[in-house]
Amino acid sequence: MGSVAYDFEGDTVIVTGGSSGIGRAIALAFGNAGATVINADITPETKDADASKPTHEVIQDDGGRAVFVETDVSERSDIESVVEAAREFGGVNVMVNNAGWFTRGDLFSVDAETFHRIHDINSHGVFFGCQAAAADMRDRGDGGAIVNTASISSTHAQVDQIPYDSTKGAIKMITRGAALELAGDDIRVNAVAPGHIATEFGSGAEQKEESVEAGDLMKPIPLARPGYPEDIAPAVLFLASEQAGYVTGEMVYVDGGWQTF
Ligand code: NAD
Repeated sequence: MGSVAYDFEGDTVIVTGGSSGIGRAIALAFGNAGATVINADITPETKDADASKPTHEVIQDDGGRAVFVETDVSERSDIESVVEAAREFGGVNVMVNNAGWFTRGDLFSVDAETFHRIHDINSHGVFFGCQAAAADMRDRGDGGAIVNTASISSTHAQVDQIPYDSTKGAIKMITRGAALELAGDDIRVNAVAPGHIATEFGSGAEQKEESVEAGDLMKPIPLARPGYPEDIAPAVLFLASEQAGYVTGEMVYVDGGWQTF
């Protein structure tokens, strides 16, 4: 298969939740494309079974520029500090609001604390990330791109997933609203919606692969395999790139066709 090379040389990219899974693949891809990468995660340690070094060290070993900034995305002041840290590298050009948390619970069993917590991380974290990055981009007057990690759960409900699904639904509309408000400043805001991706998130990578093989998902994946973090990263790079200069407010599904029927 041919490859498309995106050039982010000279750009500073913040990736929240860049230590593991999808965020790690996104951060590494931006590093490969020449960007200075800031991994904003609660921990530099990766959960990925096939990885040993922290994301920023892998990029540095490859001759790139990357740093880790300890960040809890549910804390607005933490996100503001990351954007502040990006000023050292010329300011944030691309903000990827990717960090997320998963928990199950039906309408009656979810307690208020859990419901607040998942919204604090997943939807408030994305909102704070959009706010802080956009304010900085607007002040510098150079435009920019924001990509949020949504989900097939942004539009499709699953049993026992009201807490999670409601955060992802919010991300879809934060993306659209911010795209509308920021278009005049040449700041594009889009989202990527992953499907069933083999990471340690939720049930874990191995179990996700097994459930696809066993065919016990709510419905089959047309492309008949789980997704991998490396399937998501190219879509994020496209949405952040100048090649996507006329794309804003969009949510791109990368799900093997899961949501098509
Ligand atoms: P993961 O668990 O492998 O990685 C999540 C990363 O976010 C970790 O590095 C973790 O430390 C970090 N994180 C968690 N809470 C944080 C916080 N409060 N502040 C900063 N960082 C925090 O998960 P993943 O599968 O890579 O998920 C990444 C994103 O993709 C999430 O938003 C998730 O909702 C979304 N997503 C995942 C799937 C899937 O099947 N894996 C499907 C759709 C959407």
